[in-house]
Amino acid sequence: MEEIYYNSTRGLNENLTASEAILKGIAEDGGLLVPNCIPFISKEELKNCEQMTFKQLSLYINKKFFTDFDEKELKECIDMAYDHKFEKDIITPLNKEGDVFYLELFHGPTLAFKDIALCLLPYLMKTAAKKQNLHKDIVILTATSGDTGKAALEGFSDVDGTKVMVFFPEEGVSNIQKKQMITQVGKNVKVLGIKGNFDDAQREVKKIFNDAELKEELNKRSYMFSSANSINIGRLIPQMVYYFYSYMELLRRKEIEFGEKINFAVPTGNFGDILAAYYSTKMGLPINRLLCSSNENKVLSDFLNSGIYDARREFLVTISPSMDILISSNLERFIYDISGRNAFTVKELMNDLNEFGRYKISEHMKSRMNIFYGGFATDEETRQSIKEVFDKYRYLMDTHTSVAYSVYKKYLLETHDNTKTVIVSTASPFKFTRSVMGALDDKYNKVDDFELIEVMSKAADLKIPKPIEKLNKREIIHNTVCEMGQMESEVRKFLK
Ligand SMILES: *Cc1c(COP(=O)(O)O)cnc(C)c1O
Repeated sequence: MEEIYYNSTRGLNENLTASEAILKGIAEDGGLLVPNCIPFISKEELKNCEQMTFKQLSLYINKKFFTDFDEKELKECIDMAYDHKFEKDIITPLNKEGDVFYLELFHGPTLAFKDIALCLLPYLMKTAAKKQNLHKDIVILTATSGDTGKAALEGFSDVDGTKVMVFFPEEGVSNIQKKQMITQVGKNVKVLGIKGNFDDAQREVKKIFNDAELKEELNKRSYMFSSANSINIGRLIPQMVYYFYSYMELLRRKEIEFGEKINFAVPTGNFGDILAAYYSTKMGLPINRLLCSSNENKVLSDFLNSGIYDARREFLVTISPSMDILISSNLERFIYDISGRNAFTVKELMNDLNEFGRYKISEHMKSRMNIFYGGFATDEETRQSIKEVFDKYRYLMDTHTSVAYSVYKKYLLETHDNTKTVIVSTASPFKFTRSVMGALDDKYNKVDDFELIEVMSKAADLKIPKPIEKLNKREIIHNTVCEMGQMESEVRKFLK
């Protein structure tokens, strides 16, 4: 098998192995690490995937990219990641309501899709550290719009040789998301609210990452930073698995013929989840269109429609908070791809973004984005879709999933495309009880989020997921809120 190496989107060619790339998280020059090629799989090979379970597919896909891991190592990681932590044996069930398929990625320990990759990442990192003979503690610094934080905490809590620090926007997550994080136990974890939004947190974390002086100081004390955000390639690749899985599931159910193309509608913020879908296409998975679905922070859907990325706009707090993002980190990997892997172009565009808050791509690059359809949904449309699908099928979507569903509806009206479509369902409705129940009936808008857990369970005839049972009674462990400017000193304090 071909060896894969990882290099920066901004030109630094270090030819890192997968284990080095996973440990580093981000390239030295501030760019993102990308594989030197995306392995293509033949029709025959794809056909062989049809009988694979989620775990077998995970081994198959991850092995293609993480070529310095041997099969036994990867298999051990996968077995430890996808166990009883998931409430469903098949990990990512595909549910059908009417003509639409819902790929439920929220049956893991924190009830959001980020569990799929973040249950695996700690094991990948530990294995990578062993391979690299690393005798340092890995410090995971994470900015979160709500779901990454908890999933990283859950994944890394009490993992030897690691420390985890999570920054979340104090005013920008649901009450249940917040409670999940501030009650996190573990000797090696720290959670901090910040007075700022996700973009502020993400920018500051990147700055701390790239602070040479701090890096040097930590180095002396045997620490190194890494990232659990989707800028880490160790998060991106494991996310490809469920796109393959759902395709194979559609084949097994005879919903599609082998080779038939399908659509995915993906609720998008940092462009990580949907980039995994794009990489899957490049690997040979038959995909017709990828519906990139934004909430009212629609910087991505505007970009896909105009070729202009313009972050100079008001940051809005919506009912799909995990997508409240104006600077989509992973888009850089896509830009790199459509520029013909031209690091010079990427660097120019990213400089424009830094300096002017916007950039514009060439017509040629724009012509290479056609697989994407960009759309957005307002909070009102998101609520209407939740109610519509519930009234019709008694199926309850969360707010993020509903953004994707709403964009899919607009897409249908516009294109009349009858391609089979999978809505990527990224969170459990139980994480956003007030917004979801409020969409069904105004009267719930005033009820406490935690009380609504029970109400939702009865209304939708759903079992309360284990991870949030008794959540409200758990002890609050992390109650610090800091100013943006204090983040670095908080990091130092934590590592003292
Ligand atoms: C993080 C998140 C998203 C957005 O995913 P990206 O990879 O950042 O595009 C969508 N929905 C939920 C529930 C999330 O937690």
